Amino acid sequence: MALSLEHVVVLAGGVGGAKLADGLARILPPEKLTVIVNTGDDFWHYGMRICPDLDTVMYTLAGVVDPANGWGVAGDTTATLEALKRYGEDVWFRLGDQDIATHLLRSEALRNGERLTEVMLRLQNRLGVLHPILPMTDAAVETMIDTVEYGELPFQTYFVRYRWQPTMKGLRYAGSENAEASPEVTAALENADAIIIAPSNPWLSLAPMLSVKPFSELLIEKHIPRVAVSPIVAGTAVKGPAAKLMAELGYDVTARAVAEYYGALINGFVYDLQDSSLIIEDKKTFVTNTIMQNQIDREHLAQLILRWITSEVWD
Ligand code: GDP
Repeated sequence: MALSLEHVVVLAGGVGGAKLADGLARILPPEKLTVIVNTGDDFWHYGMRICPDLDTVMYTLAGVVDPANGWGVAGDTTATLEALKRYGEDVWFRLGDQDIATHLLRSEALRNGERLTEVMLRLQNRLGVLHPILPMTDAAVETMIDTVEYGELPFQTYFVRYRWQPTMKGLRYAGSENAEASPEVTAALENADAIIIAPSNPWLSLAPMLSVKPFSELLIEKHIPRVAVSPIVAGTAVKGPAAKLMAELGYDVTARAVAEYYGALINGFVYDLQDSSLIIEDKKTFVTNTIMQNQIDREHLAQLILRWITSEVWD
């Protein structure tokens, strides 16, 4: 019997995740899709709470994202950064002026005791985004990177300040032992009839999420499609440090190694056409072009994944 999907959950990081979430949001109505987003990259900077992945997904679904970078607001200016430089500040983290408006409103609301989930839903709504985009938790979870050159670094210091050049020895998700999924995330996962892990960085975007209780338990318990799309294509990352860190952590840099890393969390995996020789037998697999260069690609990939999911029997 063909599965009909009433509630799809997509787990996403930043740019890669936002592209697939956008494709899905163009096909599924708001009540049938929830996007859950990594917050392990979040940090305080100049008194503002910055949530890079949440904002990337929000700006993308709102249609205001900078198309060249895939993050930030299209056409944004940097007058505030220039003014900070006049005071002698080393402005290593790029913040656009319009982007700062998001950070100011969020930070004020958090200081007033609002939960991150509530603030984000309100901001999304103001930007006309109707599909709920939920932070993985309202608690602070900080991805910390242990490096050969500098010891342990907070995520943004490693990623932006040092441009992910230090050699990664290991990583941990500080605070995750006390972090719990929000009621909204728990409800979305409990009600899901399909879970799609976007082509996001498994270690930097998905693992922080999976470290929050009871994410993994909720996923594994379910006899529904739980499928991941490979962020590694032809032995390399489409963008960012995924391939470099896989090599540094001792993994083969292949889509197959990503599928193995997710292990029992997933029962299906989407390989790129270029990797059809790497398929492992213990999961259902789907092979297609996974490179999303434009909106048509995003929607097409989302459509193919939904069709595949609904045409298989999952147990
Ligand atoms: P970040 O937080 O902005 O780094 O974004 P994500 O974690 O969501 O995504 C980064 C990962 O997405 C990288 O490993 C990329 O290789 C992968 N990625 C980005 N764009 C695409 C794409 O169009 N197709 C596929 N298959 N992977 C992609």
